[in-house]
Amino acid sequence: MSSDYEYSDEENGYYDDEDEEMMSADNASASSEDGMILDTINDSKGKKKSYEVEYDSLSQTAVEDLMKADVEHISAIFGVDADVASLLLRYMDWNKDRLIDKYMDNASAVSTAAGISPPTKASSPGPERSKRTTRASRLSPSAKKPTPPPEPFVCPICFDDTQTQTLALACGHAFCTACWSAYVTGKIREEGEQRIACMAEDCGVVAPDSFVLRALGPDKATATRYEELLVRHFVACSKNLKFCPYPSCTHTVSCHAAASRAALTSIVPTVCCGADPRHKFCFGCPIEGDHRPVLCAVAKMWLQKCRDDSETANWIKSNTKECSKCQSTIEKNGGCNHMTCKKCKYEFCWVCMGPWAEHGTAWYSCNRYDEKAGIEARDAQSRSRASLERYLHYYNRWANHEQSAKLSVELYVKTEKKMEEMQVTTDLTWIEVQFMKKAVDEVEKCRTTLKWTYAMAYYLEKGNAKELFEDNQRDLERAVEDLSELLELPIEAETMTQLRQKVTDKTVYVQKRNEIMLEDTAAGYLEGRWSWNVPVEGFED
Ligand SMILES: [Zn+2]
Ligand SMILES: [Zn+2]
Ligand SMILES: [Zn+2]
Ligand SMILES: [Zn+2]
Ligand SMILES: [Zn+2]
Ligand SMILES: [Zn+2]
Repeated sequence: MSSDYEYSDEENGYYDDEDEEMMSADNASASSEDGMILDTINDSKGKKKSYEVEYDSLSQTAVEDLMKADVEHISAIFGVDADVASLLLRYMDWNKDRLIDKYMDNASAVSTAAGISPPTKASSPGPERSKRTTRASRLSPSAKKPTPPPEPFVCPICFDDTQTQTLALACGHAFCTACWSAYVTGKIREEGEQRIACMAEDCGVVAPDSFVLRALGPDKATATRYEELLVRHFVACSKNLKFCPYPSCTHTVSCHAAASRAALTSIVPTVCCGADPRHKFCFGCPIEGDHRPVLCAVAKMWLQKCRDDSETANWIKSNTKECSKCQSTIEKNGGCNHMTCKKCKYEFCWVCMGPWAEHGTAWYSCNRYDEKAGIEARDAQSRSRASLERYLHYYNRWANHEQSAKLSVELYVKTEKKMEEMQVTTDLTWIEVQFMKKAVDEVEKCRTTLKWTYAMAYYLEKGNAKELFEDNQRDLERAVEDLSELLELPIEAETMTQLRQKVTDKTVYVQKRNEIMLEDTAAGYLEGRWSWNVPVEGFED
């Protein structure tokens, strides 16, 4: 699975002739049933748009092949078997170059550190290593010396002297197979550990793959889990690989373009694993889903702000109340508790919500409270109010697009039913009623873009560039709102043709506006056109 296959520019990502060659080279008859090839069609959508990043989706088997290639490489260079090569690579976090350096320098030190062989100190007395306790000693309060061969074997963990099946790693610490199996299973299942050391205490020897599989015996499920842990470790060690974050998905995405931190100041690496087109995630940060057109660092700041300012929501709650006469919302914008409803002119006390007239003599205490709070406090408050209002401007629109996207998807569930009925009652075909689905998908996608444009605008420095950004944002927003409105029109068989035409045209237009928005922002990153009103990671200089 190399990343340099070429794809045609066609929208639907059909592959071109070069892929045919690749396929026929492999196995001509495999063609379209081959899941791997279909995978690749799904993820690299043609020779990309400027806001798209190049990447590949790899199945677990494909990642295992990459691991195997590294293992074979190291095997060949060092003249060791695959088990040893794998332990060495895992010890060096799959950094081949560093491993080669270190190993050439001092092979035995590296082997010991990697848990391949016990320390070669001459003091090691062989079979009668005394006073060994075991890692699994919680199972047995004290451990016995391993008994020398002629006498019957007593497992130092279970003390069973009837066990005839034993296993030992390179260190020679023998335990019965049942104890090994229980121990290895626990490490894998409960601790999610791929590096499994010998059970003897203070023994640093690590179980190679073949040993782990032998200890597991017929337990295929745990063996599969072990293989997944190895893959996950390999992926975690590789800067250009990321495991799909969706639950129980075992696919990996490879993206060289986003492998460095510096790259993330000019690209937003949204990727999608080949297992499911809904498995969209950001290669550059832990945000699930698509946060284009906002850079990872900026998106992260915004989400942090939203979290911090959930207090703001509380602030609003504690600083607005409903007039007890006309129910309109009243904001408390000063320190004084003497409130007058703007709408009905009702006067009341903020603290007790009672009519102000009854407070009579309490006027003075209210006045004093105001004085105590002081001018300074009020200035600070009006400053924080101004910045709060600014934040709320962006936040409300951000939240609204998120909410609206959900609503249109909910609405579509109803629409879909109606469409299904129409296929039965009219002579419309399945294909002919797909335009609604396409439109809803587009609306959802564009609202996601819009949502994030508000996060971006919040941090953009005032000026020409920002104004143009906001022009694009406005055009996209209008188009999306128009299309949303069309989607809410009643669907009748008689008006279906016109509706379909209108919706289809609008969908195409919305799609175009979204492209413009994303393309222009991406171009802006490359040109260094965007400047921020706060320090942004990676833009320090
Ligand atoms: Zn045992
Ligand atoms: Zn050992
Ligand atoms: Zn996935
Ligand atoms: Zn990101
Ligand atoms: Zn009122
Ligand atoms: Zn009161």
